[in-house]
Amino acid sequence: MSDQPEISTHEIDSLYLKLKQEALKAGYYLNPDLSFTKDLVKSLIINKNRFGYEACPCRLAAGERKEDLDIICPCDYRDDDINQYNACYCALYVSKKASLNEIVIKSIPERRPPKQMRVKIAEEKQKQEGKSQNLSNLPFPVYRCKVCGYLCARPEAPDICPICKVTKDRFERFI
Ligand code: SF4
Repeated sequence: MSDQPEISTHEIDSLYLKLKQEALKAGYYLNPDLSFTKDLVKSLIINKNRFGYEACPCRLAAGERKEDLDIICPCDYRDDDINQYNACYCALYVSKKASLNEIVIKSIPERRPPKQMRVKIAEEKQKQEGKSQNLSNLPFPVYRCKVCGYLCARPEAPDICPICKVTKDRFERFI
């Protein structure tokens, strides 16, 4: 028997409603296929119970928040995939057209770079952040949400992104 707690319909419905409301407020849409979408929502709850965060249901999580940061839902790749393919990799989030069933969603290729490349990209970014910090004479640093691109100039990144609701650790120093 599994150690994982049973997921109730109530839990799934609550998270589904929360995600739907947050999505609508920020101009995102959930997949209109209710049973498909609720299955994904259930997987998010399972991952939250297992790892402590809502790792993407369609990807293999490492089980360490720092390593999985880019694939905590909503992932860093959601917006680009919606723009290009009308849906995120799992098709939990879709474009407006797809939400109205005006187009059919086809399979979405994996955009997440392989681990070695991710490490390299992170190192490069760190170097660039260091350089731009030295050059900047702005009164505040500028932080960018890696999920939705929200920018803010303030002493620290916000605890929660006001647009897509991801946590502070999903922000990067932009300037
Ligand atoms: S936005 Fe879509 S692809 Fe990204 S983590 Fe969430 S369900 Fe997975």
